[in-house]
Amino acid sequence: MILGSYRIEIPFEELKGYKRILIQLPSGLKIYARKIIDILEEKTKADILVSSDPCFGACDLAVDTALSMDADLLLHFGHLPIPNLKIDFPVKFVDVIMDIDVSSVTDLIVSGVTEKNISIVTTAQHIRYLNEIRKNLEKRGYRVRIDEGDGRIAQPGLVLGCNFSSVSRDAEAVVFVGTGTFHPVGISISTRKPVYSLDPVSMTLTSPNEISAMADRLIKRRFYLITASQGSENFGILVSKKPGQNRMDVALSIRKKLEEKRKKSCIIVTDTIQPDMLRDFGKFDCFISTACPRIALDDHEMFDAPIITPVEFEILIGERKFDDYIFDSIT
Ligand code: SF4
Repeated sequence: MILGSYRIEIPFEELKGYKRILIQLPSGLKIYARKIIDILEEKTKADILVSSDPCFGACDLAVDTALSMDADLLLHFGHLPIPNLKIDFPVKFVDVIMDIDVSSVTDLIVSGVTEKNISIVTTAQHIRYLNEIRKNLEKRGYRVRIDEGDGRIAQPGLVLGCNFSSVSRDAEAVVFVGTGTFHPVGISISTRKPVYSLDPVSMTLTSPNEISAMADRLIKRRFYLITASQGSENFGILVSKKPGQNRMDVALSIRKKLEEKRKKSCIIVTDTIQPDMLRDFGKFDCFISTACPRIALDDHEMFDAPIITPVEFEILIGERKFDDYIFDSIT
C-alpha cells in the first residue's frame, strides 16, 4: 500500500483470528490513520482502534493501552522490533519504507566520500537498501562494513537515536543514509570518526566538517547545561514508563549518589515526559532524564531547569571528565 511517500507492508495473513487490534502510528502516518483503519477492517473483520499518543520508536509499545481497551493485538507501524525488549503481549510490526534511488545514492557517495573503508548505517525506513548500496560501492572500489550492533538492534546497519552500536569501529569513516542531523551528530560524538550524512530525499551529502561543527556546538551546549547545574540542591529524576525507555535501575543509582552528597531528589515516573506536567511539582534546580536521550538533548529549551543525561550527571558529580563526554545510549 502506498500512502504519500511511504510504502506500507501490512502482514494481513498474520492478523487472522484477532478480534480487536490497537494500531500505533508515528506522527507522520497519523494523517493516513482512517485509510489504514478502513483497509484493516475490510481485510481482518476485527475492531480496529488507533492510539493518539505520541510514538517515537519501538521502545514505546502501547501495551498498557491495548490491555485496557481489551485489544488482543498491538500493531506497531514504522519501527523495527527491539530484540532484547521482551514484551508479554502479542505485538506485530509493520514495515514502513521510504524508497530511495540506490544508484543515485551510490553516485553521491562516490562523488563525495574520499575514505575507502567505510561503515554505512541508516534508519528503519531505508534499511532494506543498505546491502544493495554496499554491493554498488564495492564494485567501485570501497570496502563497506554493515555491522550487527548489540541486542537492541534488529538488523545490521540500523541506528537508533539511543544506540549507535552498529557503526563499525574499524572503518575510517561513516556514511549515514537518512534525514535529520541527530543521528549523524550522535555518531560523530560516539565514534569520533568522520561522518558523512546523505539525505536520500533532498539528495544532499553533508561533509564530516559540517557534522563535526554541529557536534561541537551540541557539546558546548551540553557543557553549558552541566555547568548551569552545578550547585543544584533539588533534582528531579525522570523515568519513562515506556517499556524500552524504562531505566529505573539507572534512576535509583543516581538517587543513591545524590543522597550520599546530601542532595534532595525525587523520582518522577511518567509516560511521555512533558515540561508542563513537571511544573505541577514546583521548582527543581535540575532534571536528570533517564528516558530517551533525545528528550534532554533535543528538547532541553522547553524545560524550566537544565535537563541532563545520566552520562552528564557523572560529569556533574566528578565521576567522569569533560574530555570523556559520550552520548547517552540505551543498550
Ligand atoms: Fe528512538 Fe528514543 Fe526510543 Fe531510542 S529511546 S528507540 S531514540 S524513541
